[in-house]
Amino acid sequence: MQRKLVEKLCCPFDKNDLDINVFHEDEQGEIYEGLLTCTHCKRYFPVIYGIPIMTPDAYRQKSLEAPMLKKWGLEITAEEKTFVFEDPKGSEAIRE
Ligand SMILES: [Zn+2]
Repeated sequence: MQRKLVEKLCCPFDKNDLDINVFHEDEQGEIYEGLLTCTHCKRYFPVIYGIPIMTPDAYRQKSLEAPMLKKWGLEITAEEKTFVFEDPKGSEAIRE
């Protein structure tokens, strides 16, 4: 996904703006790996292989996302049903 696209995207739940942490990007501004985080509800949406995963919670599988998040140095608790970082300060810390 293009970096510019981030401005057009919003949280599918509350329509608020998203922050992006970029982990892999090429010279053209194409983001291959990153983490979108809602500025309001703190839900996170990973960008994997250039595709933002913004499907409803019910269709997401934590077990599939966990290895990628771990690679980025982010720990998520598998027991949690929601895709929200428990500690908002934690998500603050990974912002660029
Ligand atoms: Zn939100």
